[in-house]
Amino acid sequence: MSQLPDFDYPARIARGRNLMAETGVGVLMLSVGADLPYFTGYEAMPLERLTMLVVPAVGDPVLLIPTLEAPRVDDRGAFEVRAWDEDEDPVAIAANLAGNVATVALGDTTWSTFLLGLQAAMPDSRFQDASLLTRKLRMHKEPDEILYLRRAAEATDRVVERLTSMRFTGRTETDLAAAILDMTVEEGHEIAAFGIVASGPNAASPHHEPTGRVMQVDDTVVVDFGGRHRGYCSDTTRTFSIGEPAPEIEQAYEVLEAAQAAGRAAVAPGVTAASIDTAARRVIDDAGYGNHFIHRTGHGIGLEVHEHPYLVAGNDLPLETGMVFSIEPGIYVSGEWGMRLEDIVVCGDTGVDELNRSDRHLRAVE
Ligand code: ZN
Ligand code: ZN
Ligand code: ZN
Repeated sequence: MSQLPDFDYPARIARGRNLMAETGVGVLMLSVGADLPYFTGYEAMPLERLTMLVVPAVGDPVLLIPTLEAPRVDDRGAFEVRAWDEDEDPVAIAANLAGNVATVALGDTTWSTFLLGLQAAMPDSRFQDASLLTRKLRMHKEPDEILYLRRAAEATDRVVERLTSMRFTGRTETDLAAAILDMTVEEGHEIAAFGIVASGPNAASPHHEPTGRVMQVDDTVVVDFGGRHRGYCSDTTRTFSIGEPAPEIEQAYEVLEAAQAAGRAAVAPGVTAASIDTAARRVIDDAGYGNHFIHRTGHGIGLEVHEHPYLVAGNDLPLETGMVFSIEPGIYVSGEWGMRLEDIVVCGDTGVDELNRSDRHLRAVE
């Protein structure tokens, strides 16, 4: 787990409370997942023992935590700590801290066993997803959050540069993936989160798990990886060609690059999240590859690698300054080859601010 920076957590809780008041939420209850560290700087281990921040409309927020975890908590001047002992019932304590409220906003990734317990203990309360509220805050990155996201992106750019001079031929996907995870840490992440290496026909599966397949000349190789720096995520994808690419691959890649450029160019405050998807997708559709672009164009990124806003058809959320997301069109021909190009960008006052800047061309490696 990364050590989270010293943000103004009391201010974040105050903003959360303003939203609670506006939306008629009586209590905010957050367990495992990224909402908890956003408000507290503390990440809960995904254990069977309950950790939960309870933020009532008035009065001190309380972090309910197993006694054995309490030594790891710094209250950041933002909340009180209530450690619970092994012979206590933490769900009953949480329900008691919540009080008798009409509406509970409960963290989306809270284990269902705790939700069921809370529902039994609070039969008159209605439960809703906390993300309806928390996403409104988390989507707008503070300048320091953008700084950590930028550093993380720059670290991945350095990994891409190192990859370009490495030999792919004769290596397995798992071997190259292990090297990528090592370089991800070496270049400036505390944790390497994931490394996809998808070669030849495997590249047609966007979230392919690296295998023992030995890479060979004429393969197209999709490399998608990221880590966490001070809690903030990186996520970038480059496509390599082992040897000179076949004309079919080169042509398709030009379409992909143009699609991603169209997506980046469309970024501006006030346009919808869906319009970025449309801008990128149109280029791929027009070139006849529409059926081969099988996922949304991008996702928000921050404390989680996938978070709001999602750049997907139907999302009419207007982009605002300070939102950070990926733009990652792909073309996948089942059983044959695949390619994807992914960068993290910020919606700036006047347009796109690119966090990843490594060369976007299809690059030939040995
Ligand atoms: Zn993905
Ligand atoms: Zn991504
Ligand atoms: Zn990715």
